[in-house]
Amino acid sequence: MILTHVCSHCRKENKVTGKFHSRFDVAQIKGEKFEKDCRHCGKKMEVVPDDIFAKENRYSGILFLMILVLGFMMGYVIITNFADKNSEIIIGFVLIIPILVYTTYNKSEMSKIRDFNRIKYDS
Ligand SMILES: [Zn+2]
Repeated sequence: MILTHVCSHCRKENKVTGKFHSRFDVAQIKGEKFEKDCRHCGKKMEVVPDDIFAKENRYSGILFLMILVLGFMMGYVIITNFADKNSEIIIGFVLIIPILVYTTYNKSEMSKIRDFNRIKYDS
């Protein structure tokens, strides 16, 4: 997941650097209010933890593709070297494992994003 907040001057999204699991983490490390320069318009803006929203990292799709390709390559090596009669089972595993990895990853990401956005700091 990535954390973003919208600039009050240009309404564009800025990324928040650092790993935070909640707005409380943000407040603890960055403070209840902190100043930041906008990446787009360069103006100074004040950010409070509740301005920050979590969203999905768009690179997770690419990551999945890489896992899939890697899985296929590994599967191909295994099949061509070792498989004779059990190849259907192996092909099945090759397909299932990357999907399993991705869905597990995606599920935990989604719940992290949901938790972050649900719990407000100032409420
Ligand atoms: Zn701006």
